[in-house]
Amino acid sequence: EPGRFRQRGPFEWELPASGRMRVPGVVFGSRALIEAMDDKVGEQLANVASLPGIVDAAYAMPDAHWGYGFPIGGVAAFDADEGGVVSAGGVGFDISCGVRLLHTGLTAAELEADKQRLADLLYARIPAGVGSTGALRLSAAGMDAMLRGGARWAVAEGYGSVADLAHIEEGGCMAGADPAAVSDMAKRRQRDEMGTLGSGNHYLEVQVVDEVFDAALAETYGLAAGEVVVSIHCGSRGLGHQIGTDYLREMVIAAQEAGIDLPDRELACAPLKSALGQRYLGAMRAGINCALANRQILTHLAREAFAELFPQARLPLLYDVSHNTCKEETHRVGDGRRRLFVHRKGATRAFGPGHAELPPEYRQAGQPVLIGGSMGTSSWVLAGAAGTGERAFGSACHGAGRAMSRHEALRRWHGRNVVDELAARGILIRSPSFRGVAEEAPLAYKDVGAVVDAAAHAGLAEKVARLVPRVCIKG
Ligand code: 5GP
Ligand code: MN
Ligand code: MN
Repeated sequence: EPGRFRQRGPFEWELPASGRMRVPGVVFGSRALIEAMDDKVGEQLANVASLPGIVDAAYAMPDAHWGYGFPIGGVAAFDADEGGVVSAGGVGFDISCGVRLLHTGLTAAELEADKQRLADLLYARIPAGVGSTGALRLSAAGMDAMLRGGARWAVAEGYGSVADLAHIEEGGCMAGADPAAVSDMAKRRQRDEMGTLGSGNHYLEVQVVDEVFDAALAETYGLAAGEVVVSIHCGSRGLGHQIGTDYLREMVIAAQEAGIDLPDRELACAPLKSALGQRYLGAMRAGINCALANRQILTHLAREAFAELFPQARLPLLYDVSHNTCKEETHRVGDGRRRLFVHRKGATRAFGPGHAELPPEYRQAGQPVLIGGSMGTSSWVLAGAAGTGERAFGSACHGAGRAMSRHEALRRWHGRNVVDELAARGILIRSPSFRGVAEEAPLAYKDVGAVVDAAAHAGLAEKVARLVPRVCIKG
């Protein structure tokens, strides 16, 4: 058996509870994925499993790898009535980082005819890179309105349409946001960063639907082979990062004061039923709204760019999912239904068919689950599976997951060569940073096909369609 994991199903591995663990750890994946997974994942799952009030198990998705405190690809739910906690490291620093997918109605052939111009135009219009700023400057009142309103605020400001909102989690506006719980420093960092991609792994990618795996689900989502789509992956920029930094510091002290014996300082947390826990939730929800508004503004910029080159194109939103959140949800645990605070860090919500939270047109199909792969391989659209709710609180993987550190990737590849090699394969990369491109080289990631297959076999989500990259604007 690889590591300390015990196989408990063809694509499910258990780390039995021992020592301080209150529940077991569970990882989904093929034997090959588990064998290749970095050892830190098991160690970090064991740590998470020792936190107060954790319910059922500490989960890791097939794309899991080492993260700050919690693994990336980690899912953990806590019960407030049983001393449960909320952890800033369990949400991640890029609060509500996520992916949205837009249709275009264009065919691959139409794209090819104008691909270079589209790449240059998108690169000119989409602010990308470290410290990039957008056209918007938010006043103090504007900032608070944005933090309360999310994508709904952005639509009211003229970015996109009301129809977009129904295809965003929470209808585009996370309830319970508390702008007063967000520091001035966090707000200052965000003042001119709305509508920007940021750096690193964030991207705006023009993709072609390469293959459909479930015709009925694809039809429900409006996807057909040969169609051009646009993926946008980014989060809450400086604001989210600062919220994480601010609260992590406070939580280290609070955990000590609450008598929580942390196996790792990075797991700093606060009881859900504490002033700090509630304040963090309010700030984190404001961070979610920031990310939703950011992706909404970027959508507007993408639509403007497409309109210049392809006046016939329409870019309706298929769906928008976040993969760094803590959300209060109802789940079945054993024989009962319980209100839980579900942390998903580098994990996508993947509600199955019939869930009341889903828009009516997708409700019978299940939630669209949007998975990045890499700029040189493929990305995926999945659908939440019927059994998911009983497995990992309605969650699935969020990407391919890193196979090596950024440092290691930099040692192996030069950004310029990566760009040239991809261009030779018809994939145009536009990025302010060759270093960033090297860090994100396709081979720095796991085999996304294997990850997605594991998610499907484990019953977390169904395969709907595979997307291949054509243009990637990279942060
Ligand atoms: P994360 O949210 O953990 O930063 O990244 C999510 C996933 O996005 C990664 O696991 C990786 O598979 C994927 N990804 C990173 N860079 C790119 C890219 O340039 N294009 C696409 N399509 N996916 C990417
Ligand atoms: Mn991010
Ligand atoms: Mn992300």
